[in-house]
Amino acid sequence: MAVPQRRTSKTRRDKRRTHFKLSVPGMVKCDQCGELKLGHHVCKVCGTYKTREIIKQ
Ligand SMILES: [Zn+2]
Repeated sequence: MAVPQRRTSKTRRDKRRTHFKLSVPGMVKCDQCGELKLGHHVCKVCGTYKTREIIKQ
């Protein structure tokens, strides 16, 4: 098994991790109710997508 020759420094480790923050990106505001929702998805709060009602309440 490969063993690293030197321990990764805190700076190097944290610099690498700057890329994998925000596991769920693409949150946008709903046009209808202003609530945060996933982009290209029907809003769970008011059930609309592109100002049209999809889910009847
Ligand atoms: Zn909404």
